[in-house]
Amino acid sequence: TLSTRLTESLKNLRGKGKLSPADVDGTLREIRRAMLDADVSLNVVKKFTSDVRERALSDEVNKALNPAQQVVQIVNEELVTILGGAQRRLEFAKKPPTIIMLAGLQGAGKTTLAGKLAKYLAKDKHTPLLVACDLQRPNAVQQLEVVGKNAGVAVYSPEPGNGVGDPVKVAKDSIKFANDKQYDVVIIDTAGRLGVDAELMKQAADIRKATSPDEVLFVIDAMIGQDAVATAQAFQEGVDFTGVVLTKLDGDARGGAALSVVSETQRPIMFASTGENLDDFEPFYPDRMASRILDLGDILTLIEQAQEAFDEKEAAQLQEKFATDSFTLEDFLEQMQQLKNMGSMKKMLGMLPGAGAMKEQLDNFDERELVRTEAIIQSMTKAERQNTKLLNGSRRLRIAKGSGMTVTDVNALVNRFEQAAKMMKTVAKGGMPQIPGMGPM
Ligand code: GDP
Ligand code: MG
Repeated sequence: TLSTRLTESLKNLRGKGKLSPADVDGTLREIRRAMLDADVSLNVVKKFTSDVRERALSDEVNKALNPAQQVVQIVNEELVTILGGAQRRLEFAKKPPTIIMLAGLQGAGKTTLAGKLAKYLAKDKHTPLLVACDLQRPNAVQQLEVVGKNAGVAVYSPEPGNGVGDPVKVAKDSIKFANDKQYDVVIIDTAGRLGVDAELMKQAADIRKATSPDEVLFVIDAMIGQDAVATAQAFQEGVDFTGVVLTKLDGDARGGAALSVVSETQRPIMFASTGENLDDFEPFYPDRMASRILDLGDILTLIEQAQEAFDEKEAAQLQEKFATDSFTLEDFLEQMQQLKNMGSMKKMLGMLPGAGAMKEQLDNFDERELVRTEAIIQSMTKAERQNTKLLNGSRRLRIAKGSGMTVTDVNALVNRFEQAAKMMKTVAKGGMPQIPGMGPM
């Protein structure tokens, strides 16, 4: 798999300021192959990898990661961006009913989706009406009636002898019906063919024209593979659609169709269908799809671990400073600034033996305190920051004035720093921390 192939190139050197073209190209070759394996169309693969290459070569190096890991991270971010770029929710009409039309090839999963969507909307306090406009397949109307019954929603179907064979009329009548009976969402199920077909396109386009839907959802089977682009483009030209629903994601399709369709039509994927049951349905998650396309689960875990190991190294360096009394006010300020990112600080402290006691204080951390501390430390000279013993009365007065604080504030900060340094020294040497009157940091 891609994961195993990439793991090899992950054993590379650390960053050197910027990634070199060789670093990037080696990894991108693997990515390109994986995307083609996942049935992403060649055009899309080319454009995608060239965009990633440009970005990878211009990005600053992330010191925690090696070149291959960085490229993978960029690839993953770009995938998620493209897949989620146009993401949005269903658009409801200002004046009900909202009209949602489904279009797609036969067997794509439209009728099944109609039921899923109706159930989903009914849970959200809507009163949907399913409309049977597939008058092509012998059992299509009956199938929708069964689906409606299972979903617990109403179905509008043509009465025998009245409009049979004319899906446009059925669609128009259903909207009148919905208006009368106060259904607030109309879901129009349409006919499909096995392949793209002019007559089918015209019928769908006519239904669209007659009903002016708020949403036209193009339903596509994720297993369709390399045919995805041509099919999507044919429907975009023939009917046009406002959003995409990907079906049969419970199968083993890698989901390249998702990327191809979004890239080539610029329409958002709105939902994912993941089985034959009515509840096998969810909003579309770009990050999950990105992992699925590249099968990068393992690699992304490795990247996370690399970043964690890097944090651990920083923690070790900090510990060394504590132990050797070389922890300065500047380090102190830096640590406080990192408190803004409490998660990372807590993690770092968690890695220092015995520092658990400080975690509670982190929970009480006050951002304003940081602003005051920054002001005071920035008013000190470099020498003063490195050695608090220099801070006599007149220096403290100067610092107080420079930072707009009082001498009492300056004193409090210096005391806190000295206590913290002492405490952390004990901790770093493996002892139990004593926190004499160390107020909230
Ligand atoms: P339509 O021709 O577009 O209306 O497609 P249908 O809704 O009739 O679905 C065609 C077949 O695919 C049926 O057997 C469905 O049960 C099945 N199906 C639909 N959606 C899914 C899905 O997400 N996963 C799986 N495994 N099967 C599905
Ligand atoms: Mg159908």
